[in-house]
Amino acid sequence: MKRICVLGSTGSIGVQGLKVIYENKDRFKVSVLTCNKNIHLLREQIILHKPEAVVVADEEGGRALRKEFPGLEVLISIEGLIEAVSSAHDMILNGIVGIAGLLPTYYGLKNKNSVALANKEALVTGGHIIMELSQKTGASIIPVDSEHSAIFQCLEGNKQTYVKRLILTASGGPFLGKSLKELSKVTVKEALNHPKWSMGRKITIDSATLMNKGLEIIEARWLFNQDYKNIDVVIHKESIVHSMVEFIDGSILGQMGKPDMRVPISYALSYPERLASFEDGPDFLKEGSSLSFSQPDYDTFKCLDLARQAGEMGGSYPVALNGANEVLVHRFLKGEIPFLGIQEGVERALSNHKGVRNPKLEEILKIDEEVRNSI
Ligand code: NAD
Ligand code: MG
Repeated sequence: MKRICVLGSTGSIGVQGLKVIYENKDRFKVSVLTCNKNIHLLREQIILHKPEAVVVADEEGGRALRKEFPGLEVLISIEGLIEAVSSAHDMILNGIVGIAGLLPTYYGLKNKNSVALANKEALVTGGHIIMELSQKTGASIIPVDSEHSAIFQCLEGNKQTYVKRLILTASGGPFLGKSLKELSKVTVKEALNHPKWSMGRKITIDSATLMNKGLEIIEARWLFNQDYKNIDVVIHKESIVHSMVEFIDGSILGQMGKPDMRVPISYALSYPERLASFEDGPDFLKEGSSLSFSQPDYDTFKCLDLARQAGEMGGSYPVALNGANEVLVHRFLKGEIPFLGIQEGVERALSNHKGVRNPKLEEILKIDEEVRNSI
């Protein structure tokens, strides 16, 4: 029995992770569930999965749960979250959104817990610290992000020196093919209407701006220890090939599957084994099925290159990029700024930022806060 601590259990990754765990009750058991403030859903999850403890970021919600479940350990706030990830688990599934996922990843690894990582922002902001910590403690990071899971699978059994480049695929999001003029008028509802994936609101907007792919370039740089020049992006609107690796002999391996996050989640939780699945893979003989690849429109979707530039500049630049993006996406979702205001604001934040080399954990959190306040 693997005891799994599910961070962000009420979110899109968390809910799908719990499905995988429940469908494999003979192998997996929930140790801890955590959420920000969706007490309503957490309550249902407590009843079904019977965790040993839960953590609620929101104090009021946490206190309400303590009354309701007197026998259950209910921890509160970021301190409670750190306490929970610091105890022993067989695996932590990190499905928290944003830089809020950085500290629990850090303390989980520090206490020798392996992490199935969906939270890309932890690597974007603190990749140098997180990867070093994983090496030092021997606690592994298994990617959950579908592109990185694909690359991780393609790299199995190959030496690092065999790798020529990584090819990240991108669906292109709901606005593929649109011009800047058209993008200036798009609505929140249109931006949330992703053609292939059903995900949380923040990452769905990131997919529409292509910032998501930019963050994934930085994520790949850290996970697979590759130079930025060896990480390419191609638009693949069918979302069947989840990413590829080109090797020095000219051979390219790709991993394919339906766009269903339960596949990479299941792989990360069971690695190095594979679990029998609930569904078949894609049917290539289905009428009308074809796979296409094309160049991203870098001039229109500026976030993709802004993220690459921030990654290449290194140090605290990705922290500034991420902090600005989190604030601007939130504002767009509230209807306060137009869609293009996201990329314009991120560009401004990056050019105003005075980078710090090799920032420590406390510096990252401080810079993140400063950037947020300056937006
Ligand atoms: P979501 O918004 O659906 O869920 C986020 C979860 O995090 C919720 O349970 C919420 O309660 C919790 N949370 C939010 N803020 C918190 C805070 N300050 N402290 C503690 N908990 C907090 O997000 P999601 O779509 O599930 O994405 C989660 C992460 O996984 C993101 O980093 C995203 O980029 C990545 N990811 C998601 C998908 C997907 O299909 N949803 C795919 C690939 C990668
Ligand atoms: Mg992805």
